[in-house]
Amino acid sequence: MRVLLIEDDDRIRTDVTAALEAAGYVVDVSGDGEEGWHLGDTELYGAAILDLGLPGMDGLAVLKRWRASGRDLPVLVLTARGAWSERVEGIDAGADDYLAKPFRIEEVLARLRAIVRRSGGHAAPVIEAGRASLDTRQMRLSIDGVPVSLSPQEYRLVAYLMLHKGRVVPQQELAEHLQSVHFERESNAVEVLIGRVRRKLPVALIETRRGFGYIVPGDA
Ligand code: CA
Repeated sequence: MRVLLIEDDDRIRTDVTAALEAAGYVVDVSGDGEEGWHLGDTELYGAAILDLGLPGMDGLAVLKRWRASGRDLPVLVLTARGAWSERVEGIDAGADDYLAKPFRIEEVLARLRAIVRRSGGHAAPVIEAGRASLDTRQMRLSIDGVPVSLSPQEYRLVAYLMLHKGRVVPQQELAEHLQSVHFERESNAVEVLIGRVRRKLPVALIETRRGFGYIVPGDA
């Protein structure tokens, strides 16, 4: 899953980015409110982590502008310690959750997983589709209870389709989620990846809707 991190504190940005990447996320980073707003407005992300005190444009303004233009990605807001008014304002502006500084990196990851699950309509950390089971905490796919060995990118592909099971996901949307902004995009990269994943699975989990995209059927 692709995540946008907007934070101007170098230390926090570096630490959170490292933790997110270690957990398998693709991370786009900005230290500036205006640039971060633009990324969230024009790129597709599974979630954003947004600091409120930012140069360029403050975090509340970023969030309000996204929501006003229909950007409904889940957003975790980072606030200063004890600033209860910031938390209230953040939630009023459309934040899905908030975290006060200083925080433990594990809490960022846990809250991020929770807002992503809620946005996909999945309350449980395990998503089932037929014989397939995706554990979003362990970042592991199992078929009939047997774990499948996937690369981080293969996992991201399966996870995105399972989070949106029952919906046809266009190839372009998948490509957006799998690759960070600065990544070279090859036209058939998604097809190649889908092929690799299919060969690893003993079941036909991912269906092709030719000309439309790919789907994990809701009743797979
Ligand atoms: Ca700040």
